[in-house]
Amino acid sequence: MITKSSLEESDSFLAQGGICVLKNDQDYDSFFEDTLRAGHYENRRESVDIMIRESRSVIDELIAYGVDFEKENGQLRYTKEAAHSTNRILYHEDVTGKEITTKLLAAVKKCENVTLLERTTMIDILCRNNSCDGILLQNPDGTLKAVFGNHVIWASGGIGGIYANSTNYPHLTGDALALSLRHDIELEHINYVQIHPTTLYSEKKGRRFLISESVRGEGAVLLDKNGKRFTNELLPRDVLTGEIRKQMAKEGSKHVWMNMMTITDMDITKRFPNIYRHCLEEGYDVTKEWIPVVPAQHYFMGGVHVDRYSHTSMRHLYAAGETCCNGVHGRNRLASNSLLESLVFARNAAYRMTEMDTDHDGKRPCRYLPYVDMTLEELKDVYDIVAQTEDLEAFAETNKQLILDEIHRLDSAN
Ligand SMILES: Cc1cc2nc3c(=O)[nH]c(=O)nc-3n(C[C@H](O)[C@H](O)[C@H](O)COP(=O)(O)OP(=O)(O)OC[C@H]3O[C@@H](n4cnc5c(N)ncnc54)[C@H](O)[C@@H]3O)c2cc1C
Repeated sequence: MITKSSLEESDSFLAQGGICVLKNDQDYDSFFEDTLRAGHYENRRESVDIMIRESRSVIDELIAYGVDFEKENGQLRYTKEAAHSTNRILYHEDVTGKEITTKLLAAVKKCENVTLLERTTMIDILCRNNSCDGILLQNPDGTLKAVFGNHVIWASGGIGGIYANSTNYPHLTGDALALSLRHDIELEHINYVQIHPTTLYSEKKGRRFLISESVRGEGAVLLDKNGKRFTNELLPRDVLTGEIRKQMAKEGSKHVWMNMMTITDMDITKRFPNIYRHCLEEGYDVTKEWIPVVPAQHYFMGGVHVDRYSHTSMRHLYAAGETCCNGVHGRNRLASNSLLESLVFARNAAYRMTEMDTDHDGKRPCRYLPYVDMTLEELKDVYDIVAQTEDLEAFAETNKQLILDEIHRLDSAN
């Protein structure tokens, strides 16, 4: 397992609001319909069904790994976010992603068969005849290394790093998408980019701080410059973003305002400690004053096309999480469905790889053995290597542009 940055620097650590779950059988139809309505009915129904049906067992597994979801009288407490017709979201304070990811990483670190490499970047895949044998990576000291495997899984996250304003970490630059474009691996709807309606407005450069949907779910309101409510705060994200942009254009302002003091039935410093702390650091006390909020790039629904087993259009290459598109989200994601979708479909990919890996005698044949000792130059003769190995910084920049150009091409074609 490799990561471009440190283990803690991934968007999964940033998830604030929570993770959806099918809370009982009676909620199936409503959960399904909410997901489809948010996705403008462009969702792959089979994928939505898989996500919902497998949600409870994923949550049970997380709890077994020690994830501590909020409880009330000994029972799990469910909260609500925009466009959900009922409370079905589990959470841990306002740092749900950190809680889940820390516990999962602790479990992974105990696995003797897993090597975790930080500050290590995949720059290409080792493929030929539409089949993947491994990856080419860059070590922290800049040297390159070929790593082989019976299967490769891309879990390389979103594309916020190619935008000027985003809630994502800047190193998340859609590298799997650029490689897909270069290697003719099928993509799906990569112009379906979600803008989060409420991030803390700032003149500073860098990641935009998210003011979670659940803040509005618990009762915060949006105000114009005169302190008047101008919209329904629980509209789906894309619709609400449109309403905020309209209001900003009308006023000629760079942001609108959010009032969290309307949340009266709980202590907001305890329910949203992270948001409270961060806003204080930026000079706003949410218990006493309004905060300025603005929409920013947040998530993307499209990605590397995968089937129900998270398999891409290239043999032995899988993709899961935000970098892939299994169709769950359609045109727009329902809040708190992405952590769930990532976990359900990553687990299915793992099952599938294990199943495909074992032949009838229970052995694991290696296709790539003849190539492991080759030099980079020799590998280039065998594999379709597209990385510009002599100037990787330039390669990374052209990759960002390649994705942006493709997004613009699809947008103008629609
Ligand atoms: C501020 C914020 C709040 C959110 N809140 C919620 C929420 O409440 N509920 C919810 O369901 N979702 C939420 N989301 C969305 C959710 O967190 C993400 O969609 C999800 O965690 C993505 O997981 P992932 O594993 O696909 O990517 P990530 O967790 O971002 O991991 C990607 C990993 O890939 C590595 N990587 C990337 N490129 C390379 C490369 N070339 N070589 C090596 N490594 C590479 C990165 O270093 C990183 O470790 C939120 C997102 C943000 C930004």
